[in-house]
Amino acid sequence: MDKLIITAAPTGSMPRKEKTPHVPVTADEITENALRCEDAGASILHIHVRDENQNPSDDPQKFREVVDKLAGRTNLILQISTGGRAGVGLDSRIKRLAAHTEMASLTTGSVNFPNSAYINEPSLVEDLAREMLRLGIKPEMECFDLSMINNGILLQQAGLAKAPLHFNFVLGLKGAIPASIENLVHMRSCLPAGATWTVSGMGANQLVMGAHAIIMGGHVRVGLEDNIYYRKGELASNQQLIERMARLAREMGREVASPDEARKILSLSAK
Ligand code: ZN
Repeated sequence: MDKLIITAAPTGSMPRKEKTPHVPVTADEITENALRCEDAGASILHIHVRDENQNPSDDPQKFREVVDKLAGRTNLILQISTGGRAGVGLDSRIKRLAAHTEMASLTTGSVNFPNSAYINEPSLVEDLAREMLRLGIKPEMECFDLSMINNGILLQQAGLAKAPLHFNFVLGLKGAIPASIENLVHMRSCLPAGATWTVSGMGANQLVMGAHAIIMGGHVRVGLEDNIYYRKGELASNQQLIERMARLAREMGREVASPDEARKILSLSAK
């Protein structure tokens, strides 16, 4: 079994300082937090940015700022989020790729979020995939449902993504596929040969889904984007969530991958 790749998702779009003081929102905070995540065992950093009011920002320049601040200070694999809330068009999402990170997220379909619809039209998904391919950026295909796995395979068949594909299964978000072991096992069974996968469980599911991924040979994403608690009623830091997952893996006999080891596992070209 490959070593475990831990992705840190420290910021996301949702948690605000009022909810948890541990969430990094400014470029400096995200940078410092990322370095702590790397020390704790993360090898990928999934990046979102915020504006001065802590609201999610679509400004490609702000993504660039975080990437620039981290340059030369970390060996983490950087992964820009190309996600967009309602109304955010292709233009701002595709421009973020100019930061030229090793990876970027690519949601391969549409889904309901708790209070809105997250629309990713086929043409938008294809345009993002085409640009990632052109720039040599490896997509992490974000799958909120089974259909999105197949959409990823179709992108590959259309020549818009290169094997081996890498998927992130997002389970437990209201509106998307529920977080159950049966669903996780079934999602894995839908993967094409040679694909790698990671899991993002929402809220308390983060620990449960992560523990199963460790056993099943998958990888895990943890961080305040998906879950702000260490346990019921106790807020977590990103570092604590990563350290716990690394500790669990080692207890189960699975070593944690360094960023360079993760590059090999994901078939990224060496940095
Ligand atoms: Zn994200």
